[in-house]
Amino acid sequence: MSYIEPAPIKDKDNPLESMMQRFDKAVDLLGISEEMYYILKVPRKQVTVGLPVTMDSGEIRTFEGYRVIHSTILGPSKGGIRFDPDVNLDEVRALAAWMTWKCAVVDIPYGGAKGGVACNPREMSPGEIERLMRAYTTALLDVFGPDQDIPAPDMGTGPREMAWLMDEYSKSKGMTVPAVVTGKPLVLGGSLGRTEATGRGVMVSALAGMEKLRINPYRATAAVQGFGNVGSHAALLLRERGTAIHAISDISGAYYNDKGIDVADAIAYRDANKGSLEGYAKAEPISGDDLFTLPVDVLVPAAKEDVITRKNVSSIQARMIVEGANGPTSAKADDIINEKGIMVVPDILANAGGVTVSYFEWVQNRIGYKWTLERINRRTDRIMKDAFDKVYETSLKYKVSLRIAAYIVAIDKVASTYKYRGGF
Ligand code: NAD
Repeated sequence: MSYIEPAPIKDKDNPLESMMQRFDKAVDLLGISEEMYYILKVPRKQVTVGLPVTMDSGEIRTFEGYRVIHSTILGPSKGGIRFDPDVNLDEVRALAAWMTWKCAVVDIPYGGAKGGVACNPREMSPGEIERLMRAYTTALLDVFGPDQDIPAPDMGTGPREMAWLMDEYSKSKGMTVPAVVTGKPLVLGGSLGRTEATGRGVMVSALAGMEKLRINPYRATAAVQGFGNVGSHAALLLRERGTAIHAISDISGAYYNDKGIDVADAIAYRDANKGSLEGYAKAEPISGDDLFTLPVDVLVPAAKEDVITRKNVSSIQARMIVEGANGPTSAKADDIINEKGIMVVPDILANAGGVTVSYFEWVQNRIGYKWTLERINRRTDRIMKDAFDKVYETSLKYKVSLRIAAYIVAIDKVASTYKYRGGF
């Protein structure tokens, strides 16, 4: 037996608590009733599944997987699937609610969901990951569906896993159902622009924020934590718009170059080096903690939760934080950030580019037509910029941070929809 119960998150703020603290603040400011508070707070459905998988050694290992549907009031629920050793129900519940607010902030007709399996894909073979993905899909066949719940990639999963999900689901229905999942490979009905979409949204948010702070992107500097899908595309697109990327990092460590990192070169190095920046010689190795304290204009956390906390927030020198990752800043760090006058473009806004292009993928699958990359990028940029402007105006109106303003925009939309639909 090698099954290990997923460990609770240790030495970290509970991400669900972090989300609820911001949610509670926004609800107070909006004057939401107690009844509506509980309607918005309690997830509609949460499912835990045990997934026995035959490993390459012949041993059968049982993984624990989750799917949480937070809300379907605006449309089918939407949310990624995370494969990571730290996955647990609390985290998935928090991420599912985040998806509800994120879809509402960018005004797309989706509710929020999230899924995950506690596993370490870095230590699993492709065959083991495929069997796990197919087992997870089979266990959730009655939850998923193009009009019900539409998964997508998240940390540790990508187009390959989405193809397996689409195949397993389609086989069960006896027909090809591309719209059941987004983030698929292009040939299976994936959308142009999906891979880089979250990073693109981070770039649009960063530029919109720089404009408000009167920072010239051509003179600006940035540091990016996490060099996976979100971080590397955000770094590349910011670089293309003139911003010098002084530091990047991944799980192997952080890399600093005060002349600016050649991001395309670092991506090529990573891709030729089993996905890791380890040994990247064109920048000086620094500690992952030091990346957060660099004197840059823009800091982009794009790796995981709770990396900006009370412990390191005082030493942050950046003028702006653009949250590529979900929940990178703990609620307890918010007050200090606000006191320091650092602008934070919050996760539910800054990383909504991915779900926006996922929505475009689903629309294209349903109408059976492919849009050009130019059209997708133009529409993504407009949705992200409109959402930023709406959140910014709300922050001025309520005299709150962009984070609380984003929650206000989202909660107001979802609560108004519940009120109109009624039927309780
Ligand atoms: P990914 O697996 O492609 O990349 C994660 C990166 O973070 C890797 O480079 C990894 O080495 C690095 N990393 C992990 N732990 C680290 C640490 N302690 N210090 C430094 N680097 C570390 O994942 P991703 O898709 O880029 O997702 C990153 C974050 O963005 C997650 O919080 C995810 O929920 C969020 N997000 C992703 C998308 C998307 O479309 N992929 C959309 C919205 C939000």
